[in-house]
Amino acid sequence: MTSFIDTHCHLDKLALSLPDALTQAKAAQVNKLLTISVDSESISFAAETAANHEEVYGALGIHPHDAGQYNDTIAEQIRGLANRTEIVAVGETGLDYHYMYAEKEVQQAAFTAQLQLAEELQLPIVLHSREAEDDTIELLHKYPPSRGGVAHSFTSSAKMAHQLVEMGWLLGVNGIVTFRNAQELRDTLKQVPLSHLILETDSPFLSPIPHRGKPNDPSRIPIVASFLADWLEIPIEQLAAETNENAQRLFAFS
Ligand SMILES: [Zn+2]
Repeated sequence: MTSFIDTHCHLDKLALSLPDALTQAKAAQVNKLLTISVDSESISFAAETAANHEEVYGALGIHPHDAGQYNDTIAEQIRGLANRTEIVAVGETGLDYHYMYAEKEVQQAAFTAQLQLAEELQLPIVLHSREAEDDTIELLHKYPPSRGGVAHSFTSSAKMAHQLVEMGWLLGVNGIVTFRNAQELRDTLKQVPLSHLILETDSPFLSPIPHRGKPNDPSRIPIVASFLADWLEIPIEQLAAETNENAQRLFAFS
């Protein structure tokens, strides 16, 4: 039976209850889930949920939208939890110049601090980058986390895809790949070696077609996988096996 990993979900924000989400994920053969935090509250949630559920792992960080929250207290909170084996990444962190909920300088400072924290903790990065390609790449070159990372919900240019692949980074693919207007993304993904792709839902956001606009949950990974496998003209079993291997390589799930 094909097994899947959801490398990016927000289990604290789903329309489903946590038990229902985990049950449905299991029924869909989604056997590992990485719940991502965005603020102090979700850092606590991710750590607690990962501690209590064998199939759940946690990423700890402050989202660019909430970059203004990042401070020494948060850094200490992350440090205090990061030595747990089920905590596998720092994030999501990065730059988002589309919404600009925090000023550029504030976002850059929080991103820089988390890149340095990831290096200190020897964890990979879960990156959120939107309409901020040049500044993102510049900071990644300036403070390269040696464990690498994933550009989650990748929708940037082919140029950025190549830069990330060159750095050994992975690209996270979710329901956006099924959207009618995502042809450029699909073309870019065809140029990326399969060894650099992983699957995610970003649930509760970004439900794949035919559920677009409805709340997403981790059980929809197989829809994304099946679509991407068709697009890349490979068997879904191969796509699942290779993307699982990539996720395992990056996050070292124990
Ligand atoms: Zn996210």
